[in-house]
Amino acid sequence: MAKKPSFLNDLNERQQKAATHTDGPLLIVAGAGSGKTRVLTYRIAYLIEQGKAHPGEILALTFTNKAAREMKERIQKLIGDEAKKLWMGTFHSVFSKILRFEAEKIGFTSNYSIYDTDDSQNAIKQILRENNYDPKEIQPRTIHRRISDAKNQLILPGQYKERFVHSTLDDITARIYGMYVERLKHNNAMDFDDLLIKPIQLFSEHEDVLEKYQDRYKYILIDEYQDTNHAQYKVTNMLAKKYKNLCVVGDDAQSIYSFRGADITNILNFKEDYENAVEIPLEQNYRSTKAILKAADSIIKQNTGQLEKTLWTDNDTGETITVLDNYDERDEANRVANYINELKMRKGYQFNDFAILYRTNYQSRVFEETLRRKGITYQLVGGLSFYQRKEIKDVLAYLTLLSNPDDDTNLLRIINEPSRGIGNKSLHDLTSTARQTGQSLWRILKNVEDANLYKPAENSVKEFVDMIQELKADLKNNVSLTDVTKKLLKKSGYMKSLVEENSPKSMTRRENIIELQNAISYFEKNTKNPKLSSFLQEISLITDTDKYDEDKPAVTLMTVHAAKGLEFPVVFVVGLEEELFPVGSRNYEDVNIEEERRLFYVAITRAEDQLFFSHCRSRYKYGEEKPMMRSRFLDEVSSDVVRTETGSTINQNKSRFSNGSSDSEYDGNTKVEYDWKKPLYNKNNRNSNQGTTIHYDNPDEDPFQVGAKVEHSVFGPGKIINRTGHGERTKVVVFFKDRGRKTLMLRVAKLSVI
Ligand code: ATP
Ligand code: MG
Repeated sequence: MAKKPSFLNDLNERQQKAATHTDGPLLIVAGAGSGKTRVLTYRIAYLIEQGKAHPGEILALTFTNKAAREMKERIQKLIGDEAKKLWMGTFHSVFSKILRFEAEKIGFTSNYSIYDTDDSQNAIKQILRENNYDPKEIQPRTIHRRISDAKNQLILPGQYKERFVHSTLDDITARIYGMYVERLKHNNAMDFDDLLIKPIQLFSEHEDVLEKYQDRYKYILIDEYQDTNHAQYKVTNMLAKKYKNLCVVGDDAQSIYSFRGADITNILNFKEDYENAVEIPLEQNYRSTKAILKAADSIIKQNTGQLEKTLWTDNDTGETITVLDNYDERDEANRVANYINELKMRKGYQFNDFAILYRTNYQSRVFEETLRRKGITYQLVGGLSFYQRKEIKDVLAYLTLLSNPDDDTNLLRIINEPSRGIGNKSLHDLTSTARQTGQSLWRILKNVEDANLYKPAENSVKEFVDMIQELKADLKNNVSLTDVTKKLLKKSGYMKSLVEENSPKSMTRRENIIELQNAISYFEKNTKNPKLSSFLQEISLITDTDKYDEDKPAVTLMTVHAAKGLEFPVVFVVGLEEELFPVGSRNYEDVNIEEERRLFYVAITRAEDQLFFSHCRSRYKYGEEKPMMRSRFLDEVSSDVVRTETGSTINQNKSRFSNGSSDSEYDGNTKVEYDWKKPLYNKNNRNSNQGTTIHYDNPDEDPFQVGAKVEHSVFGPGKIINRTGHGERTKVVVFFKDRGRKTLMLRVAKLSVI
């Protein structure tokens, strides 16, 4: 046997033992940051370096493809280019490749297409239609979710009938499930779930194929094993059966995907499945400070069902965890942004050292707006930018139509969204007429009786036109934007279709739309003469500037789910309020609080040096301010590692690291009243970060004085009419020719003198 490679010195004794225990089943259940992923990485390098296996004989499965890429790069650094031949990736990517090779054996060809969720739902929609179900009544998404659940539990269409047929929906699902499977096969297509279950079918039906892969994969390694589902468990067990060199690493305390069918028993049963399994615990955390680990430990201890584990660190005690107690989501975003700027200046962090983690995607909106306004580069991970989301674009398309009905593009986007029975043929005819006569589509629609359409389609068009006309009239009669939007969502049937669908995705879409309504109400309440057109302009401005330079270091915005396995020097866990984190409704029926707590544990343990929690006392919901209670989780954190900092919007303006009355930068036309917030706040500004000064050379010699003519990249030309503050807090009020009055921070506004 070759001598031990020197790279093993990068590991502690336990980690070395795990990396070099190559033969036989190995289980590593260990806390966050203890080096599980690192052990897998070094183990692979070791196997190759020692000649135990060629890269092609190792199968490494990670939770994201990015994780696989990073692991591979690391291995390459340890052992050189040999690592390039490694096969690693997610279950989906690895098994889709195996299926390409073996497709014929299960009745597909190697060029089979892969259906994403939308494609799957479209296929189901077609099938529903063909079988005289109304896809508005029987939602394709609902059916798809049910089919997907069944597939992941390895329940076949025939079995579905036996096991589930209790309700009409069960009955329909059972029927559609069978037809859907046939349709996919007919189309030579596999959906995401098939990528996991077809290999099982392949291996069960073709012993020789199974043997071939059993022989090939001498070593199998799985990261984040706590989040594998039944199908993943089964397929890896099949493959590992011959050599039994299966090494799985995970942390039961970080199991956060049970809603997607992840099965924690996979980790718990490992020792039963593999009698001679060796278990090596890792106990030293290398990632976080003592304070952060103590907070994490105090949280996870509240759960009843976790495995006993020890986790300690040699790292410093570190900074106390700061709980930011905020008035509302805008204060929250402002204070987080201020802290980012402040820590960057004071401690020399780069933007990419920061992560803002939230429970639900829609929370990103206020952060996106705030960070953008403050000139902080960010990157939104694992989700479309808020204003690019389909549902938001749809609603904005409706609103645009009210303001500018001749906009054909927006009209076409929503004329049949939700479906009103205006078919492609009718639409095709209408658009050709519009093109031929040089009129807008809207004009053609208004005179639809001239168009010779199929009668039901004509009626639908009329109804649609009437609805838009009515809403336009409302706007003209000064009905508020908030109310018009509400009516629009109701009359168009948009909200109803989401409610009926009742899937996690449609719930998210509803939440996002509610969040858009919040943005509209906020705009309306805080803007003089709030016009729909100016709101839409504001929004399009946000979308236009949504192109950031990827090479620039950027603050990461992501959900806690997406942050699994990652680490950041400074982490903000925001929105720590009841019904938000833990997510749920008032009485928490159907909510798995222990899983929510594990999610909080995951969030905390992403932090290396410094951790912030934040919660709001109120949030905009349904266009109104709703009081929020702080999360129970905050009370569970060991009190000696946290301190609370109650914000004061008023005092923030005096605080040394404030960027000024940032809310007034939201819109120069905005009149922001803060006094009503006053009683809630502790007047003492308890910011501990005093003592840093930023030096501006000759602050008063800059050309941006009252009376100067200036130009802003977005607002265009204007004139400075007022100037307040000094140094980094200098603000100017500019009257822009086209956009009116705006208050801007000089430091971030990028004005030029003209
Ligand atoms: P998670 O549970 O969050 O997935 P993990 O157990 O996979 O965490 P790693 O990500 O492998 O932990 O390691 C956490 C951090 O500690 C990484 O930055 C890693 O490089 C570092 N680390 C792990 N072991 C050692 C070691 N022996 N010496 C120095 N640094 C280490
Ligand atoms: Mg890891």
